[in-house]
Amino acid sequence: MFFQPYFDPMYLLFVLPSLLLALYAQMKVRSAYARYTRVPNRRGLTGLDAARMVLGPVGLGHVQIEGTPGELTDHYDPRTKTLRLSQGVAYGRSVAALAIVMHEIGHALQDAQGYAPLKLRGSLVPAIIVSSWVAPVMFMVGWLLGQPSIAWLGVAGFAAAAVFSLVTLPVEFNASNRGLQLLQSFRLADGEDLHQAKEVLDAAALTYVAALAQTLSTLLYYVFLLTGFSRRDS
Ligand SMILES: [Zn+2]
Repeated sequence: MFFQPYFDPMYLLFVLPSLLLALYAQMKVRSAYARYTRVPNRRGLTGLDAARMVLGPVGLGHVQIEGTPGELTDHYDPRTKTLRLSQGVAYGRSVAALAIVMHEIGHALQDAQGYAPLKLRGSLVPAIIVSSWVAPVMFMVGWLLGQPSIAWLGVAGFAAAAVFSLVTLPVEFNASNRGLQLLQSFRLADGEDLHQAKEVLDAAALTYVAALAQTLSTLLYYVFLLTGFSRRDS
């Protein structure tokens, strides 16, 4: 019996569709960002201006703002209560910049209000870091030694990764909804530009759906291998 997951055509069959979805989602995000980074927002505010304007009134005066290198690397760090904005978002006066800043403030609101899926996601992080390298090793060792119980422990690790990407979905969708509400309530967008902001955030959300599809298809592939459907003598 010969085991090489990355050269198994069945592996491609399982993983290729979600890989293509991930590539498509990446392309959508890049193109939506490229398009709406050229559309000026109605108030002529930079992302940084907008963040400063919104944080205090929504009770997030304690949140720090820092720069972060790269493009589309914007995020909120719940450990340090810091909003990290990329150059293009912090200093851009576009619809895209506002959409992204308000999404990240959405995460800061989740953190401040103890939004349960965010807490759950945070508590899973250490387990995910460990299992991302332990799970494949366990699977390989269990498989090569003919010890299914060890291999199943590896599969449990892949299942944990799938749960993590599942919990990420409500966190991201909810942050986008909060962001769109902020855009409206602070009169930063309405009608056409609100729709454009939603397009940027929906494209970003699709990347998280693709990530879930990838972890699920990987999980299914290893379950498929272990349950013996693809045992080949070679
Ligand atoms: Zn997010």
